[in-house]
Amino acid sequence: VFEYAPAPESASIVDIRPAYGLFINGEWVEGQDGRSYKSVNPATEEVLAEITEAGPADVDRAVAAARNAFDNVWGPMPGRERAKYLFRIARLIQERSRELAVLESIDNGKPIRESRDVDLPLVAAHFFYYAGWADKLAHAGFGPDPRPLGVAGQVIPWNFPLLMLAWKIAPALACGNTVVLKPAETTSLTALAFADICRQAELPPGVVNIVTGAGETGRALVGHPGIDKVAFTGSTEVGKQIARMVAGTRKRLTLELGGKAANVIFDDAPLDQAVEGVVNGIFFNQGHVCCAGSRLLVQESVAEELLARLKTRMATLRVGDPLDKNTDIGAVNSAEQLDKIRTLSQIGEAEGATRWSPPCELPSRGFWFAPTVFTGVAQSHRIAREEIFGPVLSVLTFRTPAEAVEKANNTPYGLSAGVWTEKGSRILWMAERLRAGVVWANTFNKFDPAAPFGGYKESGFGREGGRHGLEAYLDV
Ligand code: NAD
Repeated sequence: VFEYAPAPESASIVDIRPAYGLFINGEWVEGQDGRSYKSVNPATEEVLAEITEAGPADVDRAVAAARNAFDNVWGPMPGRERAKYLFRIARLIQERSRELAVLESIDNGKPIRESRDVDLPLVAAHFFYYAGWADKLAHAGFGPDPRPLGVAGQVIPWNFPLLMLAWKIAPALACGNTVVLKPAETTSLTALAFADICRQAELPPGVVNIVTGAGETGRALVGHPGIDKVAFTGSTEVGKQIARMVAGTRKRLTLELGGKAANVIFDDAPLDQAVEGVVNGIFFNQGHVCCAGSRLLVQESVAEELLARLKTRMATLRVGDPLDKNTDIGAVNSAEQLDKIRTLSQIGEAEGATRWSPPCELPSRGFWFAPTVFTGVAQSHRIAREEIFGPVLSVLTFRTPAEAVEKANNTPYGLSAGVWTEKGSRILWMAERLRAGVVWANTFNKFDPAAPFGGYKESGFGREGGRHGLEAYLDV
């Protein structure tokens, strides 16, 4: 059993321990090969904690615990009993939401206003929503006797650490599956805090297991013969590797991958509202959003006016301390991600696009990138085709609705899109033609646990959220 040292004196509202073990079978345990890595605060580069790196033997242990819990406790448990645990978890998340929001902002770099007002309320809402399904599965149109799949191996990214955990764990548990989840290596802390919440909720041991580590740990989990289902959210590149690993096994697979969404603005759109939508679309969460509106498609006749207003608005954005309530743009999550954003932005300039950022002073320590807009972008430019996953907007123009559709769909991705127009008929016309899992009308980045979310094309397959989110965890 992993022994905790006392929390450092500096810990205030959040209790960050100096070192974390793995959460297996309801207990904190040491990794069997003694390896660990450091978790860093991206806004200060200070080391937050030492995190255990789970090896294959640890993954083995976690899968065995999940199997045992599935066979003997959670699988046979009536849905109404499972619901009680999920409601209890949801309430505990609500009670501890202030602390969890601070922890998320420290670990991830996102502004506290976002973790407090967006991430945490959605995390709790997901557990409440799926708690409500747990005793109603037989009435959900799946057939009279839907069954859980067994043990789910779940791998998540760093951009919405606790929210992605909720998207994965809540529906899996509601359906009667048990899980082994691996958070991203740069953002493990809220997943580990969630393990404490599972204990507080007296969730039976083994129902939720958290194994920390990087890609190697993820591979050990995905490749483990003892799991029945793989759920992955992350990059398209890794998603394809996982699809190859899972091919030829009995495992079920869902993939939530990258995006390059078009935010399409017609000349009749209320421009100030559209500017807010563009800002939210690309600068929310530093642009580390799979469904970010990273390509702005604006109708030629209003392009100049819209860009002028956008630049004025961008000049008001405050970049800095994630824990400051006035911050709009926090820290980039890692040095590696910052490097990627810088490189693609330099390529954008080299390919001939025009780069603009408002004057803004960035902190000297930590990982930061100023809000950036590229104009004069051609569809062939890499900044128009590749996911940058940072606060970088590429602007293209169009003349007709047909041209807007053609350009919006000219991407290997298909996760989301936005349409801004006063005409309801045009919204429907566009929504029918845009090859994207989500189309927002006169808004952007709106989420609800009752709404299915997921991609077309290289953005993956399967849906999370809503009744559809249950399909991935049931056999009928
Ligand atoms: P990533 O693919 O590098 O890593 C995602 C997770 O997979 C991490 O936990 C990582 O440790 C693990 N991993 C890495 N290699 C692995 C392997 N070979 N086998 C198993 N696991 C492995 O992605 P990232 O940089 O953490 O996240 C950013 C990406 O996630 C972006 O492309 C973004 O669009 C995507 N994303 C998609 C959604 C969605 O719902 N579609 C949501 C959030 C993020």
